[in-house]
Amino acid sequence: MEIVSGSGRLEAGVLVHGGAGTVEEERKASHEAGCLDGARAGQSVLATGGSALDAVQIAARRLEDLPQFNAGTGAALTADGTVEHDAAIMDGARLRAGAVAGLAGFKNPIDVARAVLRDGRHVLLCAEGAARFAERAGIGRVDPASLITDRARAALERVRAGTAPRGWAGGTIGAVGRDAAGNLAAATSTGGVVGKLPGRIGDSPIVGAGTLADDAVAISATGDGEGILLVGFAQRIAGALAGGGELEAVLREVLAVLSAKGAATGGVIAIDRAGRYAWARSTSTMSWAVATSEGDASGI
Ligand code: ASP
Repeated sequence: MEIVSGSGRLEAGVLVHGGAGTVEEERKASHEAGCLDGARAGQSVLATGGSALDAVQIAARRLEDLPQFNAGTGAALTADGTVEHDAAIMDGARLRAGAVAGLAGFKNPIDVARAVLRDGRHVLLCAEGAARFAERAGIGRVDPASLITDRARAALERVRAGTAPRGWAGGTIGAVGRDAAGNLAAATSTGGVVGKLPGRIGDSPIVGAGTLADDAVAISATGDGEGILLVGFAQRIAGALAGGGELEAVLREVLAVLSAKGAATGGVIAIDRAGRYAWARSTSTMSWAVATSEGDASGI
């Protein structure tokens, strides 16, 4: 297993990923372009004085709307052919989070997660309770069929036919950001894995597994969700950083732990209090992009 990584530094900006996995050659450009679009949408929030929390929500919402990603519209389908979204958003400055799991019938699950955060009574809501909460928060349901793309249907057919392994789809989205005041935030949104059992919840909406932000670091992970849950992936990164580790090196080390202990692969993006950011993957691709007031960069 090869681990590939990169890093940089920013004053204020947004770093996003478009999922760890194996994106075919002909789809790489659209993945990278989509990430740039999402990162720029987040950065434009910061440019007009918005917070890191607002920026990651807007970046995630844009990525959810792009059908090439496994989130929002175009999300991976369950074994029943339905969409069940997982999403989380976390405000590092105030150590508050909102998350939804198994949410059906909403175009932008990250907005529902943000409403859970804003409400403040709970961190994680699931299934129909989460849907009723969203409606009370003024977020309307959409026709679940409007979230399903032909590509998602075809991916499920391949899994059903046994011509593709049941497993994670790639294309989960995530964003981490730092605003000019030095506050950090993280967001992750996904349809999970193709052909998952209805009711399955992955790592993305779980604080400390797929998503984490505090006053030291913001993290969004992607990859084999069961493995990420089992090793406490994001919390492990935060712990290693608190112990004095260097950001990019820590991401690589914890991906190695994910492989050794969790028999799993994945990818991660992170940004720290000082504005250092890094990404790393142990899969063959993970699209990413960063947008700052000084300019953009992207890759896959
Ligand atoms: N981690 C996600 C999940 O297991 C899938 C992914 O990142 O592609 O739900």
